[in-house]
Amino acid sequence: MRKMRREGLAIMAAQTVANHTDPDTSVDLGPAVALSCRECGTRFALGPIFACQECFGPLEVAYDLPAGDPEELRKRIEAGPANIWRYAPLLPVPADVAGKPNLNPGWTQLVKADNLARELGVTGELYIKDDSGNPTHSFKDRVVAQAIEAARAFGFTTLSCSSTGNLAGAVGAAAARAGFRSCVFIPHDLEQGKVVMAAVYGGDLVGIEGSYDDVNRFCSELIGDPLGEGWGFVNVNLRPYYAEGSKTLAYEICEQLGWRLPDQLVIPIASGSQLTKIDKGLQELIKLGLVEDRPYKIFGAQAEGCSPVSVAFKEGRDVVKPQKPNTIAKSLAIGNPADGPYVLDIARRTGGAVEDVNDEQVVDAIKLLARTEGIFGETAGGVTVGVTRKLIENGVLDPTLTTVVLNTGDGLKTLDAVAPTSGPTAVIRPSLDAFRSAGLAG
Ligand SMILES: *Cc1c(COP(=O)(O)O)cnc(C)c1O
Repeated sequence: MRKMRREGLAIMAAQTVANHTDPDTSVDLGPAVALSCRECGTRFALGPIFACQECFGPLEVAYDLPAGDPEELRKRIEAGPANIWRYAPLLPVPADVAGKPNLNPGWTQLVKADNLARELGVTGELYIKDDSGNPTHSFKDRVVAQAIEAARAFGFTTLSCSSTGNLAGAVGAAAARAGFRSCVFIPHDLEQGKVVMAAVYGGDLVGIEGSYDDVNRFCSELIGDPLGEGWGFVNVNLRPYYAEGSKTLAYEICEQLGWRLPDQLVIPIASGSQLTKIDKGLQELIKLGLVEDRPYKIFGAQAEGCSPVSVAFKEGRDVVKPQKPNTIAKSLAIGNPADGPYVLDIARRTGGAVEDVNDEQVVDAIKLLARTEGIFGETAGGVTVGVTRKLIENGVLDPTLTTVVLNTGDGLKTLDAVAPTSGPTAVIRPSLDAFRSAGLAG
């Protein structure tokens, strides 16, 4: 069922194997003990590899998670720093990570969104997990922070990535702080806010004439070539470590709810990595006894102009058919999402769904969130809020339960989306008469 996807990975795997003949077994990545294949379960030593050498399935980090009294672990976490490193015992990073030069992302606000709840007809608790508060104003700082520790452990000196925009900025900033060189790749036609942010930290930024999927393919080739020797691509050869950073969203949401699982989560999908790792994080909290084991539902959100996972979900298929993206939600514009099939599994297993909204609905939802809660989300936030509204209207999401909706980035990076319909109410001469005439007093 995943044959097509595996054939693509086979080529990349052959390339990385060629580049990676000597895995270093002495690396210190804390509780991480191995890489394990998500398809066949074969284990490999920790190294900069991402595809199984047996079946070409994607690899993920396997752990020795802390055993013992959950109450003690809970206290240890609560005594930690107000950033993702409070969860270091559950992440592939050395124990002393909090003391290393990094951007210290995370511990962003979980906003109780009562005004938005009223507008949407939600009678249960509604929250926005607002990741625009991260150092480079998107959730990507969480994943890059993990990748950079893996890069250190494997001796890479240049950090790279293929990016839909936010990742390029997160890599540039993290590399600057930690003293790495960076060279990142983006589609050439991104929003100005993303391009400028990716460039300002002083690393090299390369615009590729093509879509994100072209950029990604290019980076896979670069890894297999001497030109890319010694480069850590955070979302390619360091992807298993990178991906683990998304678990911190699950940890924070539950801790901020008072060590409680939400009933429903609405999560945006680009490659689908974030959604699958939030599920992994929730499962770990249950296994560790940090939260009560009860059901939760995961809902995935896409833009209609790039909705390969949503379409597959609605058609009841296991295979995700690639699309050519055409949407203002550029941070989510991955037409061939690597984790698509896993997202489908999770949505179906938890009783959730995958849904999409069109660009007009994205813009409406950005403004709805801004005017009800004072949160200016980027287009990805418009996608999740818009999908939440649609799921409630369609009777798919239960408005009487506790729901957490992710806003994964800052609206200042996607001003173009709302600029045409957001401007001054009036422009007047500086006189009381003129203001009176404008009819805005009282
Ligand atoms: C990258 C990104 C996501 C999700 O990415 P995945 O590839 O699905 O992990 C969500 N929102 C924003 C703003 C992003 O930049």
